[in-house]
Formats: sequence, structure tokens, C-alpha cells
Amino acid sequence: MLGSGSGGNATLVVGERTRVLIDAGFSARQVVRRLELLGVEPNSVDAIVVTHEHRDHTQGIGVFSRRFGTPLYLTPATRDACASLLKGDEPVRAYAPGTSFHVGELRIDPFLTAHDAVDPVAITVTSGSCGTRLGVATDLGRPTAAIRHALAACDFLILESNYDESLLRTGPYPPSVQARIASSHGHLSNHAAASLALDLLHPGLVGLFLAHLSEKCNCPKLARRVVLGALRSRGWKGYIEVAPQDGPTEMVDVPALRTRRENGQLSLF
Ligand SMILES: [Zn+2]
Ligand SMILES: [Zn+2]
Repeated sequence: MLGSGSGGNATLVVGERTRVLIDAGFSARQVVRRLELLGVEPNSVDAIVVTHEHRDHTQGIGVFSRRFGTPLYLTPATRDACASLLKGDEPVRAYAPGTSFHVGELRIDPFLTAHDAVDPVAITVTSGSCGTRLGVATDLGRPTAAIRHALAACDFLILESNYDESLLRTGPYPPSVQARIASSHGHLSNHAAASLALDLLHPGLVGLFLAHLSEKCNCPKLARRVVLGALRSRGWKGYIEVAPQDGPTEMVDVPALRTRRENGQLSLF
């Protein structure tokens, strides 16, 4: 992940031959800088898949796409909601929630979530070459049965763990903002993230990133403790990290984690 939180979100997915950014919610210059920190040339990115129009997911899409000719994948409603960021000469590919599409060997399955945007989606990315499946759900107010179904059987998950309930109640936000964050179209608390992670737990889950942490109403240690505590109580011993806002995480080699699990070097249960 290049970074995650209300100040910007972007995730780089690297397949065998294809590189996809999921969201580009930093300035294009910042996206470029963070890609370069990971040793990735910006013009080697094959697509930007946009999950919804909120600025923390779209800020850099227009400038990045125009500078590097990178195709933007958006739903038509999200494209209209991002009109101020686009000049009309970006290569835009429309997609529909619920309909999969391919970028190179990567299959993208977008599905609608409950979040206060015009057409919010979470996605799974499945490699056509090795079958590795990644689930990305960073903005959702409530994990519905359909969302849990869509995120089932992922090898690796990126899940929102936005706020701690008591820090939200005692924090700086006015009651109206607190209500929006905690609503069924807002964001997931640490405990809701833990409960979703437990619902999605299966023998093939090798790791997860906790994402989109609130700067004011959460802290990385707390989020990690709540989610990891729940998973450990079921005997899970996979990889877990909290994605920071101000810089990229390490690159995680999910197929290598799968191999370690299959060889019994990573005991998950
Ligand atoms: Zn959002
Ligand atoms: Zn967001």
C-alpha cells in the first residue's frame, strides 16, 4: 500500500506482467514519489481502478493519467462525480459493479458496498497466472452478507479498521460527524473489522493489512491488537500490518506466503 487514511489511499497490485493501482488518492506527485520509493516506474502502471469519488481515493487520478497515459477504470456515476479532476482526454474505461473485467492477467471483480458515495465498490483481484486472490475493502459502513460473500476465499485482505468506538465518542468531531462515521454508510470500527476478519477467516488466508485508520479516533497499536486478538483466538498465525498514512508499507509477496503455508512453514491453524 502506498498509504492509507483520510489523507489519501492508494494500493499497488503487482501481477506477473501487470501493475494496477487501486485508487490514487494522493497528489500525482506524491503517488509518483511513493511508487519510486518501491522501485516502481510510474509509466509501468497499466491501470488505475477507482473505487469511489471521495478525494482521498481520487485526488491524483486525472494528473497521473494524463501524464503517463494510464487508463482509468471507473463506473459512469463515479466518473461524473470526478468531473472536476478530469479534462476529457484521459483514457477512461467504464466498468459496472458486479461485472468483472481484466487488466492483463489480473481479473478485477468490483462489487457495491454500503458507503456514502455515488457508486462505492470494494474489489477482489485474482491473478490468472497463479490464482492468488486479493480483497480490498477500505470504505464501508457495514459488511453485508453480499460483501462477505464477495470477499470470501481471499488469500490476502486489505480491510478498513477506521476508528475505536470510545475514541470516536470522546474525540474532536461534532456529533453529526461522529454519527456519519459510525453509520451503516460510514466506516468500520476496529471491532467491526475484527468481526469481519473472523467471518472471512479460512485456511487459505495468509495475511492482511488494516487500512484507512482515523488519525484522530484510532491508533495503529489499538487496531492491530483488537483485530489480531480476534484472529489469534482462532489460532491464526498469518501476516498482519497496519498501513500508515505518510508512506508506503513494505511490498508483500502473497504467492510466497502461500508457498510457505503449503510447505508448513507458516502454521495458520
Ligand atoms: Zn470514502
Ligand atoms: Zn476513504
